[in-house]
Amino acid sequence: MEYPAGMDSHRNTTGHRAGFPHQAIGVVATLGGAALLAALSSGAAPGDGDTSGFVGGPVRVVIDPGHGGSDSGAVGNGIVEKEINLAVALRLQELLELDTLDTNGGGDWEVLMTRETDATVSLIARSDLANNWAADRFISIHHNAFGQSSANGTETFSFSEGTISANMRDRIQEELILALGLFNRGSKTANFSVLRETFMPAALSEGGFLSNPGDAAVLSSPDAVERSAKAHLFGLQRHYGLQPCVPTDGPTTYCVAKLASPGCVPAITSSGTPSLANSDFVIACDSVVSQQFGLLIWSRQEAAIPLFGATLCVGGSIRRTPVQYSFGLGNGNCSGRLELSLDTAFMQSSGFQAGEEIFAQWWFRDPFYFPQDPVGLSNGLRFTVLP
Ligand SMILES: [Zn+2]
Repeated sequence: MEYPAGMDSHRNTTGHRAGFPHQAIGVVATLGGAALLAALSSGAAPGDGDTSGFVGGPVRVVIDPGHGGSDSGAVGNGIVEKEINLAVALRLQELLELDTLDTNGGGDWEVLMTRETDATVSLIARSDLANNWAADRFISIHHNAFGQSSANGTETFSFSEGTISANMRDRIQEELILALGLFNRGSKTANFSVLRETFMPAALSEGGFLSNPGDAAVLSSPDAVERSAKAHLFGLQRHYGLQPCVPTDGPTTYCVAKLASPGCVPAITSSGTPSLANSDFVIACDSVVSQQFGLLIWSRQEAAIPLFGATLCVGGSIRRTPVQYSFGLGNGNCSGRLELSLDTAFMQSSGFQAGEEIFAQWWFRDPFYFPQDPVGLSNGLRFTVLP
């Protein structure tokens, strides 16, 4: 009874445009032309709700931080909806991209944001963006408010029941309840613009009520954004039949070694954390044979470059190459080790920034064993620099 339907008023429920409930069971058979293609390209088997199995190739996810710019959305207890929506959405984007890089589990995602800044974006522009990109899923992130401060809890919406959208909605709602511990208002349907006008399965979460002091206290806690973002990640992973998985924050392997040592696999490893405040960070390479030298390459950006039949993970904006010569390692028994310590003085003098992504990869020359093709590459590792 106290359900504050539509209090999050910018979720426009008018202006029905497409003229069909695209996510309803069996609707694909009634579509034609471009709409049918769009429905098929979204992978939406009509109404089966079965998303088990992670189909090949990256899943295209549009993340939609509600409101922005001149539209603040809800405001309450010191929290501005457009800001917390964006914070959760940006962290979710990071997690999905980390999940893609992480080879230890999880999914393979491609992310497009309807906004990445405090920008004004119309509702129709949001669904148009997703439709034009042929996204596979659309996740809209909101927080609620109501005139009566007693209204509280978490709820997640889809356009209709019995759909793939509803399956994703349910998983996100379950994870949000676990993550935030707020009152469970349940999974619901609503005729919201971004749910109605998107061709692909879509869900919209309302994490909690900014107008409720209890909800607001939880949402103001330092780790609320992290918990909410992970809940959306876990919900999406489970929706695709994956185990909920927190991707590795680094090091993450993203390029595979080309062997350049007969019988040996040069293994790049790290210890400590890349940090502006700690000096314990070491990059090493083990199982190196003799007659090699190694070079650790750093860059601000990933730029895969084909090189001698393998892939050099970094390039383009390489800005420092601390060289370490390591002749005569191991005497051919794979026991050699290359090592470089990156203390705070190195990190700071090199201009690393907190939050920056950096990449490391060893390469080798071994003219003794490989006179014709002397360059080998270790795996590449990706790190995030900590403050
Ligand atoms: Zn909202």
